[in-house]
Amino acid sequence: MTVVIDILNNDPRARDPAQQDAAARHPEKAGRPDTLVQRKPAWIRVKAPGSARWAETNRIVRENKLVTVCEEASCPNVGECWDKKHATFMIMGDTCTRACAFCNVRTGLPAPLDSDEPAKVADAVARLGLEHVVVTSVDRDDLADGGAAHFAATIGAIRATSPSTTVEVLTPDFLRKDGALETVAAARPDVFNHNLETTPSRYLTVRPGARYFHSIRLLQRVKELDPRIFTKSGIMVGLGESRNEVLQLMDDLRTADVDFLTIGQYLQPTRKHHEVVEFVPPAQFKAYETVAYAKGFLLVAATPLTRSSHHAGDDFRKLRERRRG
Ligand code: SF4
Repeated sequence: MTVVIDILNNDPRARDPAQQDAAARHPEKAGRPDTLVQRKPAWIRVKAPGSARWAETNRIVRENKLVTVCEEASCPNVGECWDKKHATFMIMGDTCTRACAFCNVRTGLPAPLDSDEPAKVADAVARLGLEHVVVTSVDRDDLADGGAAHFAATIGAIRATSPSTTVEVLTPDFLRKDGALETVAAARPDVFNHNLETTPSRYLTVRPGARYFHSIRLLQRVKELDPRIFTKSGIMVGLGESRNEVLQLMDDLRTADVDFLTIGQYLQPTRKHHEVVEFVPPAQFKAYETVAYAKGFLLVAATPLTRSSHHAGDDFRKLRERRRG
């Protein structure tokens, strides 16, 4: 016993609050060996948070006791987005029932749903004056419908208080939750996003609880249910995927009639998460964008700092114009 305490006291990680926080958030990863954290290249530089408008967004989020994926996922764009009062709301708590190797959201057994949450989100959307809002969630494999009815209630509450605001949902995969997708689609979000996250060869390592072809089919089914809804999906690169695998994934998404593809660089949240295999240079993102347009996507966002909700409002306007055009 004494020896263990001595070792911990001599280990700088035991005194490092960031590492302690990481272990508390991801108990399933605590026993994994540390991975090498590479220095970020010059092209990955972001605006630090702290402007007056960032503070105003922060205040409204706190007052409504809301969770945002911007914070939970340690998104690098939080300074830029919150300065524009764009925040992506994460409903159904801050604890996820999956344990993906890339994700910084806390893992564990979530609390029961807050039935007031749809109204709180709607209030924050109205106070921020959002023209377009993105609502996402943790995975809730513990709920019979995966949280689909809560998604639908949140869309309904936003429509009731901010009728001109367009709503984008970024949902989990609703694996083994029959009828869940139909419930969300029936609430008529303007954009239905579900991220593939990575190429199929990386699933067992990166996203072990998910099934690639189930995710593709989910997106295809949304379009079958309601062709008016824009569909969207995104991946991170730099996780060890090959270029040909990315091109194949684009074909799979087009087969499912997906409108909008986002591609961004994976960034490693802690030493216990999946390592960055490669920092993909900006020219490669441009090449992916060119190929994706050639394959027929209505809209493509592919830059190192692209995240699925980054510039979502501007992108929604472009989607609408291109569909009309
Ligand atoms: S890109 Fe999305 S998750 Fe990141 S700060 Fe902006 S709105 Fe939040």
